[in-house]
Formats: sequence, C-alpha cells, structure tokens
Amino acid sequence: MTIEEQKAALLSSPKNGYATLSEVQRQQMEEYCLGYRKFIDAAKTEREATAWAVEHAKAHGFQELKPGMELKPGDKVYHNNRNKSIVLAVIGKESLASGANICAAHVDSPRMDLKPNPLYEDSELAYCKTHYYGGIKKYQWVTIPLALHGVVYRKDGSMVTVTIGEDENDPVFCVSDLLIHLSADQMKKPLAEGIVGEQLNVILGSEPLTGEGSDLVKLHIMSLLHEKYGMVEDDFHSAELTVVPAGKCREVGLDRSLLGAYGHDDRVCAYAELAPLMELGIPTHTAVCILADKEEIGSVGISGMQSHYFETFMQDLCDAQGVSLNRCLEASFCLSADVSNAYDPNFPETCDKRNNSQLNYGVAILKYTGSKGKGGASDASAEAMGHVRTTLDKAGVQWQLATLGKVDQGGGGTVAAYMANRNIVTVDAGVPVLCMHAPMELVSKLDCYMTMLACKAIYEA
Ligand code: MN
Ligand code: MN
Repeated sequence: MTIEEQKAALLSSPKNGYATLSEVQRQQMEEYCLGYRKFIDAAKTEREATAWAVEHAKAHGFQELKPGMELKPGDKVYHNNRNKSIVLAVIGKESLASGANICAAHVDSPRMDLKPNPLYEDSELAYCKTHYYGGIKKYQWVTIPLALHGVVYRKDGSMVTVTIGEDENDPVFCVSDLLIHLSADQMKKPLAEGIVGEQLNVILGSEPLTGEGSDLVKLHIMSLLHEKYGMVEDDFHSAELTVVPAGKCREVGLDRSLLGAYGHDDRVCAYAELAPLMELGIPTHTAVCILADKEEIGSVGISGMQSHYFETFMQDLCDAQGVSLNRCLEASFCLSADVSNAYDPNFPETCDKRNNSQLNYGVAILKYTGSKGKGGASDASAEAMGHVRTTLDKAGVQWQLATLGKVDQGGGGTVAAYMANRNIVTVDAGVPVLCMHAPMELVSKLDCYMTMLACKAIYEA
C-alpha cells in the first residue's frame, strides 16, 4: 500500500459537507431551510413555538393524548404542557417494552423578561425594567431594535397576546448605551461590567399626555396599551412579557450559505425534530419528540425537562399497551438535540480545534458537555456513541464530533443529563452555532439540514 492508500484506510479525514452534497440534497436543504425560517420567524418564545407545534401537529393528524386512549401503530399524539412545552409521539410497530426513540430539544432562548412591576418614567422618558433570562452578554443587547412578545391575563381572567415590533409598520424598542464621547470611565471596565443588569431598561416612549401632573409619559404609554390590549398597569402582575431582538431570520453571506437569527439555540434543533416527525410513516419503535422549556436556566420548573410531565406522557402511552414505564425508559434512546459551539477563527484560543465542531461539517455529536472535569455532563458511553455512529452512517447523514471548547475554558449543559437520569441512553447532538446566545446567532444551512436528517434517522432506527 502507498502512503496515500494507508492514510485513506487508517486515518480519519473529515470533509466539508459541500464536497459530497448532491444537487438533489442541495435543493432539499434549501427547501428545508425555508421552512425553518418560517418557524423561527413565527416562534421567538417557548409559547409561540409550542403554539406553532400544536397547530402543525393537528394539521398532520396528531391528536391530543388522553389517559386511557387506545393506541395502534401509526397513531400520532401530543400533549401540550401548559402552553410552554410539548411532547409528541408517533406509535411504532414494536411494543413500548422495546423502548422509544426520543429527540429532545428546547424552545426557550436567552432574552430580557419584563419585571413584574416594569413600567416607570424617568426624566420624561417611559421605560420598562427587565430581568435577563439565561446567559447573555449584556453589552450585546443595547442599541439594537427590540420587540415585545408575550401574554397578559387581565383582571377579568381573559388573556391577550402581545406582539409588538415584528411587523414592518410596528414601532420597535431599544436599550440605550452611553455615547463614546463620555465613555472614558465605562471603556475602562471589564466587558461584563460595561452594561449591568439594572441598566437593561427598555425605552417605551417620550411623548407626555397633555395636561397637568406627573408621570405623563408613563400615563401616555399605559393609555396606548389600554387602547390596544385593554390592559391596566396591575395587569403586568399576571403577565409574561419578554423583550427579544426584532426582525426576521436572514440569509448571511454572498453565497447565502448561513442563516442569521435570534434564538437558533435551540429552535434550530426543535425544528429539526419536528419537521421529520410530521412526515414520519409507521416507525419500528415509537418516535417521541420533546420541545422543552427552561433549559437556559437549568431545565427547572413545571415546563422544564426535570418536570414529571414527561413521565406522565410516557406513562399514558405505556398504559395503552400494558407496558411498565420503567422498562420502556430503560430500553429507550434519546438524542439530546441542542446546539454546539462552532469553531470561530476569531477566537481560536478558546477551543481545541481537533475536538470542536466546524460550520458545514454536519450535525455535531457530543460524547459529553459540562465544565471543568466534565461537571454536569451526561457522558455518553462507547456503546451509545457506537449506536449513533452506525445509525447516522447507515442513513448517509454527515456528522462530526464535538466538545464544548477548551478544557477549563467554561462549559455548559443540555437536557441530556435529565434524560439520562431517567435511565434512558442519551447522546448530545446538534447544529454548530457561531455567536451562541447573541441577539443574532449564525448557523449553516448544511448543518441545519444534516441535523434534521439525523433526527429522522433516530426516529426510524
Ligand atoms: Mn441550547
Ligand atoms: Mn443556550
């Protein structure tokens, strides 16, 4: 054998996905990404993503799962968990005693939530106070157009949905930053302190109502909210309103190969799970798709992945077949579908390039995440990695290995650990992202497409 032949036979040689992408695949990729763009433009919060999923699931023949329901192979069911998260399933040919194939993503993203008592006036400007949600670099959230999304429960118990800043005729909102001319002190601060949490106050308006009295700008804003949404200031106490970057997902680059949007983490994986589930035939094993909430703050709370709602759903499925829930979970497999950090040549010192995901190299598979000595990780076994490797190779999915940055540089977690705690074999996988958690995150179309194919292959395994 020549050296070249030996290299080809023995050494690993990852290739850019465009080297092997066929014309047909390229067309499918573009079509898939158009669908994804519609999804993230419509779903900037976990509520909106859940509502979107319910609507599309119904249109594809999914029914709400009811306890005691009879289920046969091919039946499609879902459970809407309090409008904040959702689990869906397509019943397989095999009994649930042989396990389910699960894909789990999250649909919450970092943002600025309105405080319970948000509205105030200072120096004849109206503002709302916010409390950031998830990990953000605060300096990134000033001087950009912002939109307000959420729901308000009014005193009479009626609910009103709020979306301001997404229609091109809507106004947007903004957090101010200091002019450079007077920033001598600010510019000496570490980045983490240049803008602090209590400065993330969103400007709502500046025109006072005509008349005598104080707080006339605030009163004007409240009167506009009352006019449009029938709400009064106390209604903020029973509301979930959140401030997110305004605007739509855009193609990025002259070659249009990238997508720039707010909240790819993790709706890019949520859509990769949802899209193939909608079109799935009758799988061998029951296919389960989870869109979880609260991942960005530790998967806590009633809609987070640590909540028992998942067991309740699986119990109802198992009851229909007279199968023990624990046996089902023990035999199940979960792809914890969450984004990874794409290698950024601007910050090479933060990654071990040999073990990092790279844009356009396909869906990233992570044996573990965590920080320091793998703290908080679900460290997948060799067997679990072997299962994923074989499944994706068989389906012709381009994938790459990844870890989350250099050892001791930082780290993070996903829902993987909470799925593994349930005695489910779990592996992390997802779309590589540049500038994760920034108001505009970047992903490659090719990686989005390959992640969808990976979820499809897992459902069909
Ligand atoms: Mn994530
Ligand atoms: Mn995240």
